[in-house]
Amino acid sequence: MEDGQTGVFARSFEDLAVEAERLAPGDGAALARMFEEFNSHAGDVFSLFNMDLSSSQASEILNKLLHDKGRPGYSAFAASVLSTARNVVSSFQSSALRSMLASWVTHLGRTPDEIGSGIWVPLTAMALMGGGMPIPEGGSEKLAQALSQLIQDQGGTILTQRKAQRIVVKNGRAVSVRTSEGEEFQAKQSIVASTSPNHLYLSLLADAEVSPRLFSQAKQFRYGRGCVQIHLALSEPPRWPDSRFTKVGQPHLTDGLDGFTQAIVQGMSDLLPAKPTFTVDCLQILIRLARLQVRQ
Ligand SMILES: Cc1cc2nc3c(=O)[nH]c(=O)nc-3n(C[C@H](O)[C@H](O)[C@H](O)COP(=O)(O)OP(=O)(O)OC[C@H]3O[C@@H](n4cnc5c(N)ncnc54)[C@H](O)[C@@H]3O)c2cc1C
Repeated sequence: MEDGQTGVFARSFEDLAVEAERLAPGDGAALARMFEEFNSHAGDVFSLFNMDLSSSQASEILNKLLHDKGRPGYSAFAASVLSTARNVVSSFQSSALRSMLASWVTHLGRTPDEIGSGIWVPLTAMALMGGGMPIPEGGSEKLAQALSQLIQDQGGTILTQRKAQRIVVKNGRAVSVRTSEGEEFQAKQSIVASTSPNHLYLSLLADAEVSPRLFSQAKQFRYGRGCVQIHLALSEPPRWPDSRFTKVGQPHLTDGLDGFTQAIVQGMSDLLPAKPTFTVDCLQILIRLARLQVRQ
């Protein structure tokens, strides 16, 4: 943190509770209470992730979560769904712990002061402790390689260094893709464009008849919050004020939850954050450490 405090998000609850207590006496017990409150619902909540939410099975679970059996009104869990991340972490004395736990909600597209962000605090913490932040052996590039191999194994071809310029539409159906180099690729079944609505409707489909409503919606499309990644090739590992960080995959640098939320508001207002929060991905260092451990 900007004030010099450091904290480590441990993989086990016991270690995280010890860290919370180190940061501020009493925060270990407060952390246990937060998890206890969520724990009784965790199984039901996590099971919804693998379900069609419109299915009868899901609506049974949702009903169970939102109501107490045999009692009118809504459950305490239902109330917690409307809380904010800032509210959930307000019982912690340590500002480092508050920012360490509440800021993860932005990974789920929430902001710490948004209604509904509260439930993501224990949920993300449990997911992080359970699964960590896995990266492919050999680095992130291996993920792209594995995915492209999957397409090639099914007989697919990947063509790069080409710009899709137009999607050709005939009789209301997208039939081919034209590149800026003048090539044309016919679609057998469909065309999938992994792009933004404005790029799709205003550029790729510029020659096609697009409904005026869709066209004006695309024109009004506004990009959401984003993040920027800068790659640095370092001559040596970063030197951290806390030696434990040498084993942390993603040290974060922040001036706290208030600064973090302020940076979000500035981003939403098309301003560069005065004090951005950084995550310093040190994955190559971790990979080297893992290799050393395997050799030993
Ligand atoms: C800094 C940063 C960090 C992130 N960290 C994580 C993380 O840790 N974990 C995680 O799960 N997600 C992370 N994400 C999100 C993740 O990267 C994206 O959700 C994911 O890459 C989206 O995949 P996509 O295929 O939909 O789009 P993209 O990856 O954006 O791919 C679209 C591709 O289409 C190409 N393209 C666009 N227009 C045309 C055209 N006209 N013709 C030809 N090609 C075109 C683009 O060049 C691009 O290669 C991160 C994102 C950012 C920006």
